[in-house]
Amino acid sequence: MSSVLVLGAGMVGTCTALHLQQRGHQVLLVDKKGPGQETSFGNAGLIQREAVEPYAFPRQWSKLLQVALGRTVDVHYHGSALPGLARALFTYWRESAPERHAVASQHHARLIAHCLDEHQPLIEEAGAQDLVRCEGFRKVYRSPTVFAQAVKDAGRLERQFGVRFAALDAAALAQAEPALRCDLAGAVHWLDTWSVSDPGELVARYARLFEQRGGRLVHANAHTLQTHGSGWRVRADDLDGGGWLEAAQAVIALGPWSDALVRPMGYRLPLFVKRGYHQHYTGASLNLPMLDAEKGFLLLPTAQGTRLTTGAEFARMDVPATPVQLGRAEQAARQLVDLGPALATPPWLGSRPCTPDMLPVMGPAPRHRGLWFNFGHAHQGFTLGPVAGRLLAELISGQTPGLDPGPYRAERFL
Ligand SMILES: Cc1cc2nc3c(=O)[nH]c(=O)nc-3n(C[C@H](O)[C@H](O)[C@H](O)COP(=O)(O)OP(=O)(O)OC[C@H]3O[C@@H](n4cnc5c(N)ncnc54)[C@H](O)[C@@H]3O)c2cc1C
Repeated sequence: MSSVLVLGAGMVGTCTALHLQQRGHQVLLVDKKGPGQETSFGNAGLIQREAVEPYAFPRQWSKLLQVALGRTVDVHYHGSALPGLARALFTYWRESAPERHAVASQHHARLIAHCLDEHQPLIEEAGAQDLVRCEGFRKVYRSPTVFAQAVKDAGRLERQFGVRFAALDAAALAQAEPALRCDLAGAVHWLDTWSVSDPGELVARYARLFEQRGGRLVHANAHTLQTHGSGWRVRADDLDGGGWLEAAQAVIALGPWSDALVRPMGYRLPLFVKRGYHQHYTGASLNLPMLDAEKGFLLLPTAQGTRLTTGAEFARMDVPATPVQLGRAEQAARQLVDLGPALATPPWLGSRPCTPDMLPVMGPAPRHRGLWFNFGHAHQGFTLGPVAGRLLAELISGQTPGLDPGPYRAERFL
């Protein structure tokens, strides 16, 4: 077994570190902040067993027109970002055609199928049961026609991928969620999905488990990464002694920051981000998380209040927050529940690390010995962290992986 630097202590990096450690590697988990303080902190907290099909780019012209006119809650864009995004978005649109999306879904579903089995032991060993509810979540529908179609689609997913659901008509939904203050057409209750009341804390507990088992967590800037002999090294921050940290292998698990590190190394991968916001409110005591499927926002009960998370903002990662969507989602949410006032904290902004074929990049870096990629998990990185961690650890350890890694290799873009 060898020594490994895992760069990035989000859900993906932390789980990779744990799986490597289990296989006897000496692991240094590196982050510029503490574990789980970025994208894995602010998400909607769902471990999405139902998310077998990745999010497709809208294909209907009517929807595209609404987006272009800035009339949607779920999608927002910065016009200034479009020239830089054009190529990736065109490929994303092309890959979202029904027959191609069906292929991507097969590869995505194969990963998603393991998410509960992989999180379960970590939740137990990390003593994090208090954070997790295993009662599913509800997608609610405003219009009877859209609801009827959603129930048909759910039935297809159940037959094809074995994901369980229950359809609730208007009366059953009103009974299940007495906090709802308007009549909705109904809901699809996805029964196998889990929800986490504090996503950042779950990653922090996984990282504590890694440390309890002898792993080392270090503050360092991943951009100091360089080759060193036949291996790799990064420079620790002064906080951690400032010296060089060396290892035989390195894994890049920097979520949306991965592109900034791999591009100068010669990897022009078509990575882009979908930004998203959250805000907490004092009201709306829901029994389960609720996604307004037609407007595209989610309400998650958390210890700090109800967390409202938004859909996708196509923008450059480094430009200031423009929480237009949050305002629209808040307005739509207030039609459903008494949200109460927002907490005084500014809206949180994060970036989903995306690829145009809707599949993550996992496997060896094609042109560098001992370097590995584990990023691009898009809308489901919190769900897939331990699945991705196992796959990478198996590959690095020379074990036969439980899943065919072929569809996720970086080579598909090079
Ligand atoms: C609004 C929203 C809602 C979402 N809801 C869900 C959901 O319900 N379920 C789900 O499965 N997914 C959800 N996602 C997606 C999910 O949050 C991400 O896919 C996932 O968190 C990515 O994890 P990661 O470990 O790859 O990245 P991150 O969690 O971002 O981790 C990357 C780490 O790299 C570190 N880092 C960055 N640069 C450097 C550097 N130079 N040096 C050292 N360290 C560095 C960061 O500090 C960070 O800790 C949502 C995302 C958003 C934005």
